[in-house]
Amino acid sequence: MERQEVGRLAALIQEKICAVCIDRNVDGTCDKEAEGTCTLMQKLGPAAEAVLKVSSDRIEPYIQSIRDNVCATCELRFPDGSCAVRDTDHCMLNSYLPLVVEAIEEHFGRAFPSAEGLTAPPVH
Ligand code: SF4
Ligand code: SF4
Repeated sequence: MERQEVGRLAALIQEKICAVCIDRNVDGTCDKEAEGTCTLMQKLGPAAEAVLKVSSDRIEPYIQSIRDNVCATCELRFPDGSCAVRDTDHCMLNSYLPLVVEAIEEHFGRAFPSAEGLTAPPVH
């Protein structure tokens, strides 16, 4: 995915997810974003490509696609595939996945149920 496209998508993510993210500072800035340690922003391009491989009204296929296409090459996971970052709710890509999927689908103009329709929590 082209850098410009990822940049446009990041702007939508900031509007829809950073605005409600518990990790941002009260003044609206974000230390993780400034440090480059937000996994959502770090992996937005591959995550968008993983989401666009799926079309479902269930969250599970999106979770699986993220696992297969993003987590599989993530430097933060352990060799056995487990992920302490995810297990401790420090992976924003995982924590906000229903909202992330909704934003990506909206950005690319795909019909999609609201995040409320994807109520199943991300699988750890
Ligand atoms: S941690 Fe990530 S998702 Fe949360 S406000 Fe910062 S950049 Fe946005
Ligand atoms: S859940 Fe873990 S392996 Fe997957 S992207 Fe997040 S930090 Fe990386």
